[in-house]
Amino acid sequence: IAAMATAGLAACGSNSDDGKKSGGTSKSKVGKIGVILPDTKSSVRWESFDRPLLEQAFKQAGIPYTIQNAQGDKQQMQSIADQMLTQGVTMLAIVNLDSNSGAAIESKAKAQGVQTIDYDRLTLGGSADYYVSFDGVEVGRVQGQGLQKCLGSKKANIAYLNGSPTDNNATLFKQGAHEVLDKVTDYKKVAEQDVPDWDNQQAVTIFEQMYTQQNGKIDGVLAANDGLGNAAVSILKKNNVAGKVPVTGQDATPQGLQNVLDGTQCMTVYKPIKQEADGLIQVVTALAKGQKPQTNATSNDPQGKRQVPSILLKPIGIFKDNVKQVVDDGFVKKDELCKGA
Ligand code: BGC
Repeated sequence: IAAMATAGLAACGSNSDDGKKSGGTSKSKVGKIGVILPDTKSSVRWESFDRPLLEQAFKQAGIPYTIQNAQGDKQQMQSIADQMLTQGVTMLAIVNLDSNSGAAIESKAKAQGVQTIDYDRLTLGGSADYYVSFDGVEVGRVQGQGLQKCLGSKKANIAYLNGSPTDNNATLFKQGAHEVLDKVTDYKKVAEQDVPDWDNQQAVTIFEQMYTQQNGKIDGVLAANDGLGNAAVSILKKNNVAGKVPVTGQDATPQGLQNVLDGTQCMTVYKPIKQEADGLIQVVTALAKGQKPQTNATSNDPQGKRQVPSILLKPIGIFKDNVKQVVDDGFVKKDELCKGA
């Protein structure tokens, strides 16, 4: 996992013929691909970035697709998957709501001869053939380093607002952040909690409790994404210390970037989702041709005791001074950021 593709998909190259299965024809047509997104509340990324970028990528590649959102409901995700299988999708990509429900969908698909791909979140104990995502531990490291940069060298009490305990990514983010921050002897962890389902509302309550319990003696907040970061910022605002206590984030959402620009959030992590969408298309295209998709990593699934061939992309730390990079990349529009300013 150390040798990550630094230039995203450029480093993955085009599909090679090396792994061509015997009998595989390079001309076989790609059938309809089903993609199931998880929800609308844990992050705006799924509907604001992933859906349009996936649509664009499928269209460009001329691949028929259907994209649906499970609205945070595991049962709904299973029934969407069932419908897609009935419709005859040839491959299914999911962002699981938790590993158990994801694994059930994948084994059902597999039983019907439909290959599955984990998109963004690894399904532990699942049977997906491939995994396309960002390097999760690296995301956490970028957050940890970002918080360290904003805090500087001084004694600091740190509170951690982690992602959903059922999301393997949250485990990886947490791991990366601790790897960096636990080494700094000046820093002390004073509170740490997982936020169920990444629920931004619950995060407000959780952070308010932390803040009260610590008598306001929190100097830095490692928040796992922009939604959780904004929850912390709202409580810091209420206590008139927003901007004085650095808060991290992830997803480079308009809200997160606005917070970075107005100084209430120290940084966010930009994950160029276009590369992730393109990665999925690359895997799907290769599989349809009976070729072995090109990958740059393997991901450990401790539950399934297996290594899943993966495309893992590189996240980018965004601070006030390089927000422009996200705009120049076309990820967000300038006027989306100037709204509340
Ligand atoms: C994704 C993050 C997202 C979070 C909440 C994670 O699995 O990698 O980008 O913020 O889920 O949806």
